[in-house]
Amino acid sequence: VKGNVLHLLSFYDDTLRKRSIEDKDIENEMNYALEHGEFEMYLQPQVSIASTDVVGAEALVRWIHPTKGIISPERFIPLFENNGFIVKLDYLIWEKAFATIRSWIDEGYPVVPISVNVSRIHLYNSNLLERFIMLAEKYNVPRKYIELELTETAFFNNARELNYLVHSLKKEGFILAMDDFGSGYSSLNMLKDIPVDVIKIDRGFLNEIVATEKGKTVIRYTIAMAKKLNIDVVAEGVESFVQAEFLYHAGCETVQGYYYSKPLPVNKFEQYAFH
Ligand code: C2E
Ligand code: CA
Ligand code: CA
Ligand code: CA
Repeated sequence: VKGNVLHLLSFYDDTLRKRSIEDKDIENEMNYALEHGEFEMYLQPQVSIASTDVVGAEALVRWIHPTKGIISPERFIPLFENNGFIVKLDYLIWEKAFATIRSWIDEGYPVVPISVNVSRIHLYNSNLLERFIMLAEKYNVPRKYIELELTETAFFNNARELNYLVHSLKKEGFILAMDDFGSGYSSLNMLKDIPVDVIKIDRGFLNEIVATEKGKTVIRYTIAMAKKLNIDVVAEGVESFVQAEFLYHAGCETVQGYYYSKPLPVNKFEQYAFH
C-alpha cells in the first residue's frame, strides 16, 4: 500500500510539474501570440427556441497555436487573470466584436448583437466605460449591438464599486448581461438592485437543477421572476431537444448550446446565421 501511495504521489507530482512547465510556456508565448494574431474570436449563436432564428452571438476567444493547435480559454484565462494579460486580450476581442458588427452593417446583413466577456479584472482599473465608448465611435457601431457579460460573482463581490459603472454603461446605451447566473452564492434579491438586461443561466446550474421536480420548479420560478422584472433569460449549455423544450415551456425564449451550434469562426457563423 505504501508503495502505491508513493507511486501515486510521484505521479501527481509529475503531473503538477508538467502543468507548471506548460503554464510557463503559455506565459512566455502570450505576447508574441497577441502580436502575431494567434488569438481569434469565435462566435456561438444564440437562438430563439420558437423560431430557431439566430438572435445574438457570444464572442469566445480561441488561441490558434501554430504547433499545439486550438487551445481552449479554460486553459489560459485563469493564468491571464493572474498575470494581468487578460486586460489586453479582452481589449482585442472587444475590438474584433465591434469591427465584426461594422462589417455586418456594411454587408447589409440583418445584424444581431454580439456579447463580449468582461473579466472581473477590469473592475479594478476602470476605464472600461471609456474603452467601450471609444470603440463604438471608432467603428461607428450603435451601442445596442454590444452586450457586456459580467459574471454573477463579479457583481456580487463588487456590488458597491460596480453600481456606478453599471449605471453608466446603461446610461450610455450598452446592454448588460449577468453571466453564469446560478453558479455562485448570489441571491435573486440582487436582481432588483442591478439594472441588468439579461441573465445567462449557467449550464451547471441548469443541468443539476432540472434533474428533480423541485429543481424544475426553481428554474420555472427563476425565469418567471426575471421576466416580471423585464430581464431577458438566455439559457447556456443546451445540448438536447428535451432541454430546449423544457426551457421553452418554462418561458425562456433564447438558448445557446451545442444542440444548436458550437462556437464558430466568424465566416462560419455568418453562414449559419445569415444564409
Ligand atoms: P462562459 O462565458 O460561461 O462561456 C460559455 C462556455 O460554454 C464556452 O466555453 C462555450 O464554448 C461553452 N458551451 C457552450 N455551449 C455548450 C454546450 O452545449 N455544452 C458544453 N459542455 N459547453 C458549452 P469556452 O469557449 O471554452 O470558454 C470558457 C470560459 O472562458 C467562458 O465561459 C468565459 O468565462 C471564458 N472566456 C472565453 N472567452 C473569453 C474572453 O474573450 N474574455 C474573457 N474574459 N473570458 C473569456
Ligand atoms: Ca460568457
Ligand atoms: Ca456563462
Ligand atoms: Ca461559465
